[in-house]
Amino acid sequence: MSSFERQIKELLAEQKQTWQVARENYAALGKVQTRAFNYLGRELLVQFNPERIRSSAAKVDKTSLQARPCFFCHRPKEQKSVIYNEDFEVLVNPYPIFQEHLTIPLRHHERQQILPYFHTLLELAVVLPSFVLFYNGPKCGASAPDHMHFQAGNNLGFPLFKDWCGINKTQVWEEKNTRLYTSVEALPRMFFMVSKKKEEAIFLFERLYKLMEVKAEEYEPMMNVIVWMEKDSWVVGIFPRKALRPSCYYAEGEANLLVSPATVEMSGLFVLPLEKDFKKVTLADLQTIWQEVSITEEEQVKIIHKLKNT
Ligand SMILES: [Zn+2]
Repeated sequence: MSSFERQIKELLAEQKQTWQVARENYAALGKVQTRAFNYLGRELLVQFNPERIRSSAAKVDKTSLQARPCFFCHRPKEQKSVIYNEDFEVLVNPYPIFQEHLTIPLRHHERQQILPYFHTLLELAVVLPSFVLFYNGPKCGASAPDHMHFQAGNNLGFPLFKDWCGINKTQVWEEKNTRLYTSVEALPRMFFMVSKKKEEAIFLFERLYKLMEVKAEEYEPMMNVIVWMEKDSWVVGIFPRKALRPSCYYAEGEANLLVSPATVEMSGLFVLPLEKDFKKVTLADLQTIWQEVSITEEEQVKIIHKLKNT
């Protein structure tokens, strides 16, 4: 364990003891119900977690954001932090999905955007080796799209972390120390980058980013990103997105499922805040959710084609 990770574990222990909201919510998480599904030999998990309603149903339109104070700039007095560097600090997430769930906000108020900070995501993965680090784009599950932040959770909480080697992949790009793969015939559509060299990983990520479409009225391509260390390599999962929420989120009656996919869901852990949804959800529903929020196969092929030919 790095000395930084030790500091973070101490912060978690301290906050779970002294901050009532965190104490209660982490205790409740210990009793949370889960269901498991088998998808092409992988395990997909569904977690019934009522406290996440504030995140799943969060309004992220401009007017709603302007009407509420930023929760990273205006914090409860009990919330402590560990400074990471000049730019970022680490906090305990009081509404957890994992027993160790961190938020890592920028130390000044600035909108959610990954490109200037992708290197930090890689660096954080090195100093937090038992965590998976992740980024939710402003319209891809981030509940504070007005304030740049990453998150982290215990690596074993992520089905993708455990199953990624078994996913059928095709290599689409190669640098000296870096490979890029796509998932084949499986949802959700994603890229895997495996790299031993930070500069190459940053370079390839920037290339991919620039080949992805930016929708009208958006300022970056819609995506979720997940990063962890595997021995001496970074494993980066990139999920290009085409929609914030699936059709079931807006459906009336029986067809309604309150689920707002972010990196955690794209990685195989679906958080459902309503018990009725937890009980009725099927594997087919989960596949439809992935299908509807991911880019299409055609769009993915187009990105690969541009990568190889420009
Ligand atoms: Zn802020």
